[in-house]
Amino acid sequence: MTLTVRPHRESLGLKTGQLYLDGQWTPAREGANWTHRHPATGEEIGEFAVAGAADVDDAVAAARRAFDSGTWSNSRASTRIAVLRRFADLLRAHDEELRSLQALDNSVPLSFSGSIYATSVGAAADVFDHHAGWVDKLGGQTLPPYQGGDHLAMTFREPIGVVAAILPWNAPFLLFAQKVAPALAAGCTVVLKPSEYATFTVLRMVELFAEAGLPAGVLNVVTGPGDPVGEALITHRDVDKVSFTGSRAVGRRIVEASAGTLKRVSLELGGKSPALVFADAPDVGVAAATVVGAVTMGLSGQACVANTRALVQRDVYDDFLTAAQGMAAAVTYGDPFDPSVISCPLINERQLARVLGYIERGKEEGARLVTGGERLEGELAAGNFVAPTIFADVPNTATIAREEIFGPVLAVVPFDDEEEAVALANDTEYGLGAAVFSADAQRAFRVSRRLRAGTIGINGFQIEPHLPFGGFKQSGLGREGGLSSIEAYTELKSVLMPLTGELM
Ligand code: NAD
Repeated sequence: MTLTVRPHRESLGLKTGQLYLDGQWTPAREGANWTHRHPATGEEIGEFAVAGAADVDDAVAAARRAFDSGTWSNSRASTRIAVLRRFADLLRAHDEELRSLQALDNSVPLSFSGSIYATSVGAAADVFDHHAGWVDKLGGQTLPPYQGGDHLAMTFREPIGVVAAILPWNAPFLLFAQKVAPALAAGCTVVLKPSEYATFTVLRMVELFAEAGLPAGVLNVVTGPGDPVGEALITHRDVDKVSFTGSRAVGRRIVEASAGTLKRVSLELGGKSPALVFADAPDVGVAAATVVGAVTMGLSGQACVANTRALVQRDVYDDFLTAAQGMAAAVTYGDPFDPSVISCPLINERQLARVLGYIERGKEEGARLVTGGERLEGELAAGNFVAPTIFADVPNTATIAREEIFGPVLAVVPFDDEEEAVALANDTEYGLGAAVFSADAQRAFRVSRRLRAGTIGINGFQIEPHLPFGGFKQSGLGREGGLSSIEAYTELKSVLMPLTGELM
């Protein structure tokens, strides 16, 4: 039987061919379109507009007008809080619809988006609720005069201005929330560019935001690929900040492009995150299932923080590999709307070729292929499916242990003792996440303190809306989540005022 998702496309209805500018759905001026093909079936799902430079100008101008008018930043705090919370409630109310749209975009199965917190609609809603709580609490300080005398020294936090928010395709709910919620909580206005591979989900979210009562111009959407749409945004003179989640290569390009106008930049980039599995792990089988699950289930390893390097102590190395193979064999692929399917294909043919290329490289460089390593055929041949792939005995110098593959490929590296494990873990250009599996709490904390990464999970991994998330080293600049992320959408201003006629 041929796999098809078309019936869902017909029943869901898609917002097609329109940009969202200044509170209106508007066709692109030049009328160019992008056709989205489903990664599991190759079917055409729908077309959306490719914004041209003039459309991006319109979007930025709308965001600028809304910012300068204070329609959002100077409105009552209770009004802004109510809008953000209403949007959170609307997200929850449209949970199944949004997850279905996502399944049409990136083929993440409903079984996964309905059960794993980080990729759920509920997590995105929680991020908005959390940030709504900061709206009336963002403040500066009043400091005692340094040089004595009688004057006031104060700091204020003010919104940065117009933010260009650029999203990847893999987790549109959470990543939309991690950018838009703090930007709006800080009082900024936004021009959002979804990934060309997850546009329909985001367009529906924007429609729900309008329903929640967000004023026109505060959130605008331009759709289309990185070039030309993202490029027009990151080089635009009137964009004050670029907030980006995506690949390291594009992150570098954004840093370069921002130099012209010294834009503020936040970057959430890739990773090669290690899981350190010690012989005293509470349960090596559970550790193996957790690690392999993160690299194969749901997003098929297309997750920035997936622990794609398993560093395993030699005493439990064989047990780990046996359990890892068992877990890999249990992963199911196919129609994302089928509740028995728990993983997805690679997003496009380019990514499929890239991942298969890394697998060949792993073999060439002498790693031992334990399972997988090939494209899935038969009923799945029209999609970009790759079998869960585990390489053992991987030198930490091998390409597959160093580069972000963004596919279901786990590199297992043996170690003898804690010192070696920490050295291997930190021997990477990235520093997004890490996991430590050990029942010895002192060891777990000791090792966590020594790891050069932004988020560490002990005997598991979780993402929380109020915890900063982001990378050390080349995994990014800045953090998303919690107060620090809102502050990154503000400028800090100092104001001084003498309280007498004397000069300060
Ligand atoms: P990508 O870098 O190819 O694209 C990300 C976004 O940037 C897309 O919207 C794309 O259209 C846009 N873009 C591309 N070129 C551009 C340019 N020149 N100027 C402006 N925008 C441009 O990444 P992807 O394939 O969508 O996502 C995968 C990457 O994202 C991986 O590296 C992954 O690790 C990373 N990621 C990081 C996090 C995190 O929180 N750290 C989360 C998810 C994904």
